[in-house]
Amino acid sequence: MLAARDKDAEALAALLDRLAGAPQSRYGAGRRELAEYAPLSGAELADEVEAHPPFGRFQLHPEPLIRAGLASAAVPRPTPIAWTRADLDAEAQLGARALRRAGLTARGRSSDCLEGGLVTPGTLAITDALDALDALALPVGPVTTAPALQRAAEVWEIVRPDTLIVDAASLAFLSGADAYPHPRAFAVLLTPANAALLAAPPRAEVYRIFSVPQACTFVAGECAAHDGFHLADDAVLAEIVDDAGAPFRDCTAGRLLLTTLARSLTLLRFDTGLRAALDRSRCRCGETRARIRFAA
Ligand SMILES: [Zn+2]
Repeated sequence: MLAARDKDAEALAALLDRLAGAPQSRYGAGRRELAEYAPLSGAELADEVEAHPPFGRFQLHPEPLIRAGLASAAVPRPTPIAWTRADLDAEAQLGARALRRAGLTARGRSSDCLEGGLVTPGTLAITDALDALDALALPVGPVTTAPALQRAAEVWEIVRPDTLIVDAASLAFLSGADAYPHPRAFAVLLTPANAALLAAPPRAEVYRIFSVPQACTFVAGECAAHDGFHLADDAVLAEIVDDAGAPFRDCTAGRLLLTTLARSLTLLRFDTGLRAALDRSRCRCGETRARIRFAA
C-alpha cells in the first residue's frame, strides 16, 4: 500500500477531483485508486506534522494558510492544523448548513459556549458559520461552572438566544442546570474524543454535529428526524472498512475513514478511530445526503 506522500501532488489532486465528482457512489471514479492508499492513523499524522513543521507535507495547493489551530481529537497529541481563505469560506458554508439543519435560520439568535483561540472546533469556526447564515452570534465562552453560568445567563436573559451552541462539557453542565432561559435547541459539536456521545440515543432538543477539524470542522450533523448524521459529502468522502482496510457494504459498522475532497491540507483515508455505518437511503427529513450512524 502507498502512503499519500509517495505520490506526486498533481496525481493526488487529480484523484481528489475524480472523487469529488462522484461523492455518492461507492463505485465512483477514483474509488479503487483511493483504496490503494493505506489508512492514515492519528499517530502517523502527528508524526508527519512533527517531522515537517509546522503543518506536515500534505498541502496540495500553494495558497497561503491564514488561520491555524490545534487538533486534539483522534491524534495522540495536539497537532497544528491550518486553513486557507478558500478552506475557511467552505467551512463557513458547511457550518451554516449544519446549523440550519438544527433549526437555526437567518435572523435566528444563537449563543456559543465554545472555547476561543487555539481550540478546534471553537468559537471562530462557529462565528464564521453564523455570518454565512446571517444569524446572531453571541460568544460567551465555556459554561461549566456556576459563576460562568451566572455571567452568561445575565446576557441570555436580555438577548434570549433560541439555539445554544456548545461542546460536550458545556452541554453536560447546562443539561443539569436550571438558572437560565432554556433555548429551543442545543447544537453540540462532538469530536472523535466523544465516541460515547456520538453513539448515544438521540435527544429531540439536541442536534449533534460531528467534527474532525483535521478533515472538516462540520463533517456531519443531525437533522430534525434525529436518525443519523447527514454527511458533508461535498467536502469529505467517508469510507467504512474492515481492519485490513477493505470496504464494507452500506449499513454495516466498521472503521470510519475520512478523505478530504477540497481542503488545502489534504488527508487521505484518515482513521477517525471510530466505528460507524453509512446509510444512503433517503431520510425522513427529505435530505438525500448519506447518513453516518455511530456504533458503540
Ligand atoms: Zn435527515
